[in-house]
Amino acid sequence: MIDGGSERSDAADLLIGVLALQGDFAEHLTILESCGYRGVAVRSNDALERAGALIIPGGESTTMLKLIERFDMRETIQKRILGGMPVFGTCAGAIVLAERVSDGEPPLGVLPLDIERNAYGRQVDSFESEIDVPELGFAVRGVFIRAPVIKRLGAEMQPLAWWRDSPVLARGASSLVSTFHPEIAGEFRLHRYFVEDVCAASLQTAT
Ligand code: GLN
Repeated sequence: MIDGGSERSDAADLLIGVLALQGDFAEHLTILESCGYRGVAVRSNDALERAGALIIPGGESTTMLKLIERFDMRETIQKRILGGMPVFGTCAGAIVLAERVSDGEPPLGVLPLDIERNAYGRQVDSFESEIDVPELGFAVRGVFIRAPVIKRLGAEMQPLAWWRDSPVLARGASSLVSTFHPEIAGEFRLHRYFVEDVCAASLQTAT
């Protein structure tokens, strides 16, 4: 368990790529910078190869997946993630990573989760709610914008927070996904958790 405090592990020196083809990548880069981490915008396979971890931002998953295809990055991203590179997907980023998605472009299929896009319907298209993350000992402001719902989470992934009985934050051995946008809420503790816990754990298993 971490407290979102100032502990730093070796993972704090990782170069953290933020997929910057579409969506709110700038917000992620700002948060990484404010935590003192090394973030870099990733728009090519070369840039991805230099990164030690990857964040896939919120935005529009169909557009992002089309651009991943157009920039010829699909295979490289898949290989790196399946090879153990830690990844954090927020909202559209979680959709991009999923195994199965209700509609839209075929996702990367690298994380054991099925997801339904735009699943909250029109009335609550976008909303905010305080989300308790008991495992981490704090609550975050969940900003949900045309958010997806996780319909199935593989046994390898641990749900860390729920909203109305669906997991909205989940962690795998070297992955983290949220269906909301910490980056838009200026919430940095989940980025810290990603680096100091998820990335750190995967560095340890790699050595
Ligand atoms: N509705 C978007 C999609 O399907 C995701 C929303 C978001 O990232 N805010 O890609």
